[in-house]
Amino acid sequence: MSQECIFCKIINGDIPAKLIYEDDDVVAFNDISPQAPTHILVIPRKHMAGPAEVTQADETLMGKLVKLGADLAKEAGLADGFRLVMNNGERAGQTVFHLHMHVLGGRNMTWPPG
Ligand code: 5GP
Ligand code: ZN
Repeated sequence: MSQECIFCKIINGDIPAKLIYEDDDVVAFNDISPQAPTHILVIPRKHMAGPAEVTQADETLMGKLVKLGADLAKEAGLADGFRLVMNNGERAGQTVFHLHMHVLGGRNMTWPPG
């Protein structure tokens, strides 16, 4: 838990968010500023700044995060295409420094991303 972290505040209820999914390890909710018709954020309860801080001890947790993202995408009707994105660092566009995976879909995506 980090005192100043927006996503830690969502996890502990200080900032309201309608959770799509939660268990002891992970939480999912809609992005406040959706970049696609479906834009879900999947985050671990454990505070880590980003994927660069993932350790061997987090391997199971990270697998769970990806599986949940894929399951939520399929539940949202995105079986024909969705994107899972994790930004690391300001230069990659990261703005919230609590590790999170974007689940994006419902429109055609381009590659490479901007
Ligand atoms: P990043 O740019 O760090 O990869 O993604 C951070 C995401 O968090 C952004 O897409 C932004 O819209 C979202 N976000 C920031 N603050 C809040 C908030 O208070 N509630 C929700 N639901 N999403 C947020
Ligand atoms: Zn945090």
